Amino acid sequence: MILQTTVAQARRLLIAVLCAASFSAHADLRILACEPEWGQLATEIGGDLVTVKSASAPGQDAHHIQARPSLLAQVRRADMVLCTGAGLETGWLPVLLNRGSNPDVRQAPGLFMAAEQVERLEIPATLDRADGDVHAMGNPHVHLDPNRVITISQQLAERFATLDPDNGARYREQQQAWQAAFEPNVAAWKKQAAPLEGLKVISYHRTWAYLLDWLGMTRVDELEPKPGLPPTPSHLADLVGKAEKEQVRLILYQPINGDKAPNWLASRTAACAVELPFSPGEEDTDTLTSLYDTLIQRLTSALQACERGKA
Ligand SMILES: [Zn+2]
Repeated sequence: MILQTTVAQARRLLIAVLCAASFSAHADLRILACEPEWGQLATEIGGDLVTVKSASAPGQDAHHIQARPSLLAQVRRADMVLCTGAGLETGWLPVLLNRGSNPDVRQAPGLFMAAEQVERLEIPATLDRADGDVHAMGNPHVHLDPNRVITISQQLAERFATLDPDNGARYREQQQAWQAAFEPNVAAWKKQAAPLEGLKVISYHRTWAYLLDWLGMTRVDELEPKPGLPPTPSHLADLVGKAEKEQVRLILYQPINGDKAPNWLASRTAACAVELPFSPGEEDTDTLTSLYDTLIQRLTSALQACERGKA
């Protein structure tokens, strides 16, 4: 009798342990981030309450991603799909969400669009496909302004709390801790970037619009004739005159753009080409903090080197 009771108790205990284990496994919010920057932010804010996968790798062109079968499986399992939005993923995300057949992530609260939580730059007055194939809802590359990232992190914590109310207080605490650590850097970066203020640049794509706006730099033009379209010989020829007239100092490009057009323009003008990362995980960056560190360090040292080299 005693033995039977003990076995029954042990069985009950085992069931309780298994239930607790399976509950905690399901308690994790499963996040599929479209881009590494949002995956990184979700990890910072969600901590061990979230499991994060990224649909694109650092350095990949997020305007164009293949909706491959492994991604469909991740959409099916996700509690949240976390993307830039504002049209950045128009070419692939709708397909992924349709084929993923997970109604929870096809709209809010399971679908979170970071760029749509903040004011965007470059919203076109009229919609015309002739203006290029991207950026119809304004410039989506908002992760390159740390102040907008702070706003997005607050909204993201609230959204996590909506999806996982039992842990709402922890998401808010983790966001506050992250912001408290991040904010002093924002002021330090701005100070470090003081020599860049007022500087005129040409960028390959409208990639760093928010960074330039934050640091008081001016983008005179792009190497792309329209967002998403590759440089043409006639546009490049026009840029030579424009760079000279406007006294452009730096030509900014990402590794995926290739250095051919930037170097061509640099060889014909007083400007210098500088390759910059776009997402955390590229080159010597791993977090959003180290991404901004690297961006500002590269820009300031490129300006110094250019002043020495082309003086
Ligand atoms: Zn873009």
